Amino acid sequence: MAVKTSVSQKRNEQVDQKKSLLDSTQIVIKEALSKLGYSNEVYELMKEPQRMLTVRIPVRMDDGNVKVFTAYRAQHSDAVGPTKGGVRFHPEVTEEEVKALSIWMSLKCGISDLPYGGGKGGIVCDPREMSMLELERLSRGYVRAISQLVGPTKDIPAPDVFTNSQIMAWMMDEYSRIREFDSPGFITGKPLVLGGSHGRETATARGVVICIEEAAKRVGIELQGARVVVQGFGNAGSYLAQFMHEAGAKVIGISDAYGALYDESGLDIPYLLDRRDSFGTITKLFKNTITNIELLELPCDILVPAAISNQITAENAERIKAKVIVEAANGPTTLEATNILSDRGILLVPDVLASSGGVTVSYFEWVQNNLGYYWSEEEVSKKLYDVMVKSFDDIFNTARFHKVNMRLAAYMVGVRKMAEASRFRGWV
Ligand code: GLU
Repeated sequence: MAVKTSVSQKRNEQVDQKKSLLDSTQIVIKEALSKLGYSNEVYELMKEPQRMLTVRIPVRMDDGNVKVFTAYRAQHSDAVGPTKGGVRFHPEVTEEEVKALSIWMSLKCGISDLPYGGGKGGIVCDPREMSMLELERLSRGYVRAISQLVGPTKDIPAPDVFTNSQIMAWMMDEYSRIREFDSPGFITGKPLVLGGSHGRETATARGVVICIEEAAKRVGIELQGARVVVQGFGNAGSYLAQFMHEAGAKVIGISDAYGALYDESGLDIPYLLDRRDSFGTITKLFKNTITNIELLELPCDILVPAAISNQITAENAERIKAKVIVEAANGPTTLEATNILSDRGILLVPDVLASSGGVTVSYFEWVQNNLGYYWSEEEVSKKLYDVMVKSFDDIFNTARFHKVNMRLAAYMVGVRKMAEASRFRGWV
């Protein structure tokens, strides 16, 4: 009984924390719209997703029992075009979190000028404790449960936390079976042989690197030899550590969900990449670890939170020693912390800009699927580079012009197109 109480208490705490993600997103959306001169009606339309679906998915587990999973799909706004965004598999997913994440997807699409609005999905499950067959049944069950609401011209899912190209392949196959024709444009982040795009796997990290380069130029940091700390060793964190290492930076700290590794003279990144498991777990192999909290406070030039939300808070923001923070994760810094960091003169490149490389190359993948004509890796890289540099410039200049921090500036750039499209449609 005591154990039960503590489990449900933990869940309640998670729900509260995730609710604060939505609350703070709404505060910044409101501020951005009012700075741009939009009425409160526009805010009322944008403060929550237009559509929110909750489903329960029965899955036959390997032991013969049926387990029922709760899952969500949020569609924030289809004013600009179909909605777009990943599906995360995580034991702590909540409805409020998926709602906030769908709004952030709208902002990313607006910032990158993609013809989409934001969407997001989540399944409450722990893929680290499931077999491949169980994951396949769950992935297919999710697509069956949401199939009425999604599709290549309606809502296009993609990978997110703990989902990958294999899961996208099962989902695409299930959707194609339901519709009775091959539908590669239903989902992005697929394996290359199933209509995936070159460069999609590494796109989020590549986008973050471009933001780091742009930020470093502005602040006067030389990337060669710069001390970089990366929190998280999943898709974004691990490729990022690799690219920064290849660029001659010194990656002095990395972490996973269980702890962190630190070496002032630079970690052996190729070795760590080789030894991690498919969920990015690596620190269990080492004795001398530090905590994730200590990692964030290490003296460094560039700090990249690439794990989960609410990591830099009012509690630790004063102790952060980085000169630049580039958010590869969604929502790693709270609003209070954003203000503290900005008062301290630390340049913070917000998540909706820094992590927009993923959805940008997802858009390229969808375009290629629609065309039936595929681009080379160089073409994709060049196009991603151009989009990221333009987005960074727009937001940096907006921040300067309006004398606001980069997060508010990113929201201003991100909501503009959606607000205009809603107005032209006659919604507001
Ligand atoms: N899940 C990624 C994100 O949060 C990518 C979404 C996509 O490619 O649609 O931006």
